[in-house]
Amino acid sequence: MVSIKQNLSIVKDKIDNAAKSVSRSEHEITLLAVTKTVDVDIINEAIEYGIEDVGENKPQELARKYQAIGDKVRWHQIGTLQTNKVKYIIDKAYMIHSLDRIALCEEIQKRAEKIDKTINCLVQVNISEEESKHGLLKEDVIDFIKIVSKDYSNIKIKGLMTMAPFSDNKEDVRKVFKGLKDLSLEIEKLKIQNVSMETLSMGMSNDYEIAIEEGSTMVRVGTSIFGKRDYTKI
Ligand SMILES: *Cc1c(COP(=O)(O)O)cnc(C)c1O
Repeated sequence: MVSIKQNLSIVKDKIDNAAKSVSRSEHEITLLAVTKTVDVDIINEAIEYGIEDVGENKPQELARKYQAIGDKVRWHQIGTLQTNKVKYIIDKAYMIHSLDRIALCEEIQKRAEKIDKTINCLVQVNISEEESKHGLLKEDVIDFIKIVSKDYSNIKIKGLMTMAPFSDNKEDVRKVFKGLKDLSLEIEKLKIQNVSMETLSMGMSNDYEIAIEEGSTMVRVGTSIFGKRDYTKI
C-alpha cells in the first residue's frame, strides 16, 4: 500500500532542503501533483494533505476529474495539447503548460474569448533539442512570445516549461534546467507587454531537486507521490 501522506511528507522535505541548499525559500516553489491515471478518491486524499495544484496530461481526463472535484484545487494542463481538445479544458484549467505553436494560440484565443476568460500559459521549450521532445527550440521562443503578446489578448504568458532528458547524467539534466532559467532572465529583460516570467515549470520525480537548485518555481511530481503507475494503460 502506498501511503500518500508519507510520500507527500518526504517530497515536501526534499523540496525544502533543495531550496535551502541554494538559499531559496520553500515558499517560492509550488508542488504540482501529477494525477494522471490516479483515481478521484486518491486525488481527494492528496488534497486533504494539502495539495492545491494538480496536473493532468489528457484533456478529457482533466475534464472528467474536474466534474468530480471542482475548484477546490487549481487544474493544470501539462503535456501536449491538441487543438481539437482545447474545448475540454478551456473553462476548467487554471494554467496550460504546453503552449508551443501559433495554431494552439489561435484555438485557445477563440475559446477563451467566447467565455471571457484570460488563460495563464507557459511556453514549452525543448532545451535539450531531443527530437522526441515537444516544445519550441530556444532560438524561436522570443519571437513566439512577442507574437502572443501582440495578437492573443486572452492568453497571459506567465513563464516557461521544460522537460529534462531521460538521463542518469545529472550534469546533463542540470544544464537543461539552467538553460531554461537563463532564457527566462533574457526574456524578462525585454519587458514584453502582458508577459511575465514568474513561473518556471521544471522538475519531475527523478530530478525535481536539481530543478529547484536551478530556479524552478513549480515542480510536477507524480510517481514520488502516488507510486509507480502504468502510464500505457490509459
Ligand atoms: C507524467 C508527467 C510528469 C510527472 O512525472 P513523474 O515522473 O511521475 O513525477 C511531469 N510532467 C509531465 C509533462 C508529465 O507528463
